[in-house]
Amino acid sequence: MAERRRIPETLFDDFGFRMTYEVERVLYEMHTEHQHLVLFEHPFFGKMLMLDGATQVTTKDEFVYHEMMSHVPIFAHGSAKDVLIVGGGDCGIAEEVLKHKTVKRLTQVEIDASVVEFAKEHFPEFTGPVFADRRFELIIDDGMNYVAKTERRFDVIIVDSTDPLGPGKVLFSDEFYAGCRRCMSKGAVMVTQNGVPILQADELTDSVSKFLRLFADGSCYVAAIPTYVGGHMAMGWATDNTKLRRASVKTIADRYRKAGRFPTKYWTPEVHIAAFALPRFIAEKVAKAKRR
Ligand code: SAM
Repeated sequence: MAERRRIPETLFDDFGFRMTYEVERVLYEMHTEHQHLVLFEHPFFGKMLMLDGATQVTTKDEFVYHEMMSHVPIFAHGSAKDVLIVGGGDCGIAEEVLKHKTVKRLTQVEIDASVVEFAKEHFPEFTGPVFADRRFELIIDDGMNYVAKTERRFDVIIVDSTDPLGPGKVLFSDEFYAGCRRCMSKGAVMVTQNGVPILQADELTDSVSKFLRLFADGSCYVAAIPTYVGGHMAMGWATDNTKLRRASVKTIADRYRKAGRFPTKYWTPEVHIAAFALPRFIAEKVAKAKRR
């Protein structure tokens, strides 16, 4: 029997290692205006989307990242009405954000229309409820342009970007973070996809030091996503409200109860609070950023 195709994750080639994923079936593959996109069926992880050789989302473990990037900032804020997602192509985060009935308007600014179009066909579990929700609006634009120009003000900004390569590079810049700060309401919070610290250490330290040049509070929280190889994933945290990440389990649990305790598979009030207790090697990367 012919050897099955294996698709490599090339993100960590410079570290001398590659994950390869056995392909049951390629569902979709193309070079979009901005990046190489491939979606395939994997025997264990289910549907897997890769952009430019980096795993973006899999059916098996998407809930970890999507829940932690949405419920942590929204429950920490406590009264978020206007939410902005930058990137977020597959709409997995949008689907989680819209579980919050207190959210009145959700705007997603995605650079690559092809990613959303293909997600409508291949990730209906995300896009179905999202595009059926009148609170949701999609804008196709570079996130850098949008935050530099918009008159809107947001209570929560979620930067669900690719890695700092290609179109995603600008989303890790001083200009972009300053643009985000400009369109944040008083006491708002921004969270960012910030890589895997054991492999992408500088990415985290760079972002946090940039946050601290703009905001009173800059740090990160963590979660482990099996297909974001390398252990803990860091999610950047930036706000002028220094109390937000010091809320108690009781406060978060009360807000969750008021939100109707919608089902989750990873996020809980306890996990929310624990995610800010950083392992020492990650805490040292944040401390290094503070010394810069
Ligand atoms: N969760 C994934 C991760 O951690 O790698 C990211 C998922 S999502 C698919 C990333 C999205 O960011 C992609 O759809 C990509 O097109 C979009 N993106 C990249 N650069 C962008 C930019 N400058 N402005 C807006 N969207 C951008």
